[in-house]
Amino acid sequence: MIDLAIIGAGPAGMAAAAEAAGRGLSVCVLDEQARPGGQIYRDVDRAAGTLGAILGPDYAHGATLSGALRDSAARHVTGAVVWAIETDDAGFTVNYTRDGASAQIRAGRILLATGALERPMPLPGWTLPGVMTAGAAQILLKQSGIVADRAVLVGSGPLLYLIAAQMVRAGTPPLALVETPARGDFAGALRHLGGALRGWRYLMKGAGLLAAIRRAGVPRYRAATEIYIEGMDRATAVRFRAGGQDHRIGCDTVLLHQGVVPNTQAARSIGVPHLWDDQQRCFSPVVDTWGGTAVPGVFLAGDGAGIGGAKLAEVAGRITALAIAAEAGWITPAERDRDAAPLMAARRAEGAVRPFLDAAYPPAAAPIADDTIVCRCEEVTAGAIRGYAKLGCTGPNQAKAFGRAGMGPCQGRYCGLTVTALLAEATGQTEDETGYYRIRPPLKPVTLAELAAMDAPHKDAAE
Ligand SMILES: Cc1cc2nc3c(=O)[nH]c(=O)nc-3n(C[C@H](O)[C@H](O)[C@H](O)COP(=O)(O)OP(=O)(O)OC[C@H]3O[C@@H](n4cnc5c(N)ncnc54)[C@H](O)[C@@H]3O)c2cc1C
Repeated sequence: MIDLAIIGAGPAGMAAAAEAAGRGLSVCVLDEQARPGGQIYRDVDRAAGTLGAILGPDYAHGATLSGALRDSAARHVTGAVVWAIETDDAGFTVNYTRDGASAQIRAGRILLATGALERPMPLPGWTLPGVMTAGAAQILLKQSGIVADRAVLVGSGPLLYLIAAQMVRAGTPPLALVETPARGDFAGALRHLGGALRGWRYLMKGAGLLAAIRRAGVPRYRAATEIYIEGMDRATAVRFRAGGQDHRIGCDTVLLHQGVVPNTQAARSIGVPHLWDDQQRCFSPVVDTWGGTAVPGVFLAGDGAGIGGAKLAEVAGRITALAIAAEAGWITPAERDRDAAPLMAARRAEGAVRPFLDAAYPPAAAPIADDTIVCRCEEVTAGAIRGYAKLGCTGPNQAKAFGRAGMGPCQGRYCGLTVTALLAEATGQTEDETGYYRIRPPLKPVTLAELAAMDAPHKDAAE
């Protein structure tokens, strides 16, 4: 049995692993990716050299974290897809698949650093080939050096600008940016100007990205509504209304993005309570200042505990590692408090800009058309979900029984928030009253062959 299993090798997981191992704990990091980095620093050890100029200096910073992880005594199991976490009196059993077989690891404590997911953006035509999330296009760039051609970026949020600027630097600028925030959203965000000014570096960075997009001649359409993706067997154009006029842009690729939300599947599966966060318009796990949860031995850090960005995730990972080291008796509470004090200050500084960004770049407010598919795995439309509400369905769990929404291979990751929103709107309940899918293992698809190949139950892969 090891002291600590960390799920996720993004900035939070990498920083926590190096910190905890440095304090003496035996640590194992599991991540489904082939290399450390998480979303922002995906593949950084391989790609920083070749793609560094396109992806920018923030990306290259990831190499310092992956280096610290490599130099630490922590073990990193790459390509490990965690599909179940079981609890018992002695600790946790983490089940994962790797190389076609399932395996288990036993740990006294668990740190979930599972990061964020892109918020789903259901609109007419979003299931057509040629449409993907902007983050998926960025993954293609980071992992394979491929840039989406003749693409229109649609949605909201700083990441949309970052990806547009990266496409410009790669020599394949997008055809246009179609932005959904209403004019009033930015004005409303100015009430958070104090925090925004404390995060002035992020504002400067945003201004730099917009300048690069403008210099490349990429047209920006603001406050866009009535967005449709045209096409028969693949996306061929985006239609929308902006500035009092109808527009149509022919394209080969449509990249959708309206912010990121915590990836809560693993935390939910082991009973960590979640509450609706009105500012970030998503459910977030309930954690204390150290990343501790109501489930003994389970900790969270990074975007999975609430969206804060990569720098905040890194700092939070260190803070939580100190808390775990103190709880496990490797350092005293006084040492924990002393070493965490500058990290807590850094976390406050990093988080200051967040309320401004959340208010300025909200998800699109337009109602989802009845015939738009919201659960892509089971092909359930928004109209069907509204129909279930009329028949008495009050929450996403019941929606499973009504029409299999959320029961496909993604386990509700890409429809959960939409189904909650549709049902809350139809019933007049709050999001907390409406709730979310009850998440059960397997968190990720696992085959019978992978289960059968598990040679010894409770075999500890780290021993
Ligand atoms: C697609 C996408 C692209 C982004 N690009 C940028 C960017 O370019 N710049 C920027 O500033 N921010 C970006 N962000 C936001 C950024 O990811 C976060 O702020 C930051 O990475 C959070 O760090 P983290 O350690 O909390 O999680 P992450 O970096 O997301 O790391 C989480 C890790 O957990 C792993 N994981 C999750 N579930 C499992 C499981 N069941 N089994 C095994 N492994 C698992 C994932 O593979 C991932 O490596 C992006 C977000 C997304 C979703």
